[in-house]
Amino acid sequence: MRGRKTVPEILRLFREAYADSGLGDEEVEGFIRYLHTKNIIVDEDWFERLGLPTPYQERLQRQLHFLMDLVDSPAHVAGIQQRIMRTKVAIFGVGAVGGWIARELAMMGFQRFVLVDPDNTEASDAARHAFANGLRIGEPKVGVVAEGLREIDPAIEVSAYPIALNIDTRLDELLGDVGLIVNAADEPYIGYTSVKLSRYAVRSNLPVLIAGGFDAHLASFGEMIVPCQTPCADCYVNYFRESLADWKPVHHPVTNRDKGFGGWSALSVISASAACLQVLKYFIDPKLVSRGRRTEFLAQDYSTYSFEVTRDLHCKVCSDR
Ligand SMILES: [Zn+2]
Repeated sequence: MRGRKTVPEILRLFREAYADSGLGDEEVEGFIRYLHTKNIIVDEDWFERLGLPTPYQERLQRQLHFLMDLVDSPAHVAGIQQRIMRTKVAIFGVGAVGGWIARELAMMGFQRFVLVDPDNTEASDAARHAFANGLRIGEPKVGVVAEGLREIDPAIEVSAYPIALNIDTRLDELLGDVGLIVNAADEPYIGYTSVKLSRYAVRSNLPVLIAGGFDAHLASFGEMIVPCQTPCADCYVNYFRESLADWKPVHHPVTNRDKGFGGWSALSVISASAACLQVLKYFIDPKLVSRGRRTEFLAQDYSTYSFEVTRDLHCKVCSDR
């Protein structure tokens, strides 16, 4: 079935080859239609008819073919990619994990970005950052990432803010028509920034992805928060308050940990890729992201450890929605 024979011709060939099959034309034709409905056989020119802007569609052809294997029709593929193309994404923190997330989302077809990070690049970023290299030391990270994204596709639009997310940040002014928020900022503490972003996201009915930013963040698969579907950041706080009630913090044996955190680029990229897969899943169908879950990749044996978090029925932020 390569588009070189019509259905009547296929039926005739079937009759000749399998005369004693006991199947009539109607049954065979019904089966062909069934395969077509299930997207197992597809029209030969489905790719040309997707209707996305030409250079964009050419750049993303590998992804579009893969999506075609996952969903049920070319129209569905086009719809998913159009939503990705139009959605503005805000990324807080564009360092080791956030920088790779920016890169992968751009490669996935996101065209509109808001980048927020107060830091400048350092010499050590060359070992693990998606865009910073030895020639770009001491420059604002948001500028380095913005330029890198435009090298992937000159049509990508970026608003870059070299500022920190803090308690006074006016998110409504900063985020405007943003449709997806990513938090990969490790300063101030990721728990605080996630709660602030999650509360805004629940109010505005936006998805927010928490990625990286923990002490041992380099290979963690953070959670995607979908308002009214998954736990919100406050639900996670309440969950840990209960589950860690008997836990006593232990002092870290090293007292001066200034510049003490190490990292491998490979681990940052695992974290970023896991985060971007969640984003893709959400854009295929928001209902696919229905559970609260955190996972750690364990480098010693390539296994993962995860646990699930459920919505807090009494959560002050999301329970009445
Ligand atoms: Zn909640």
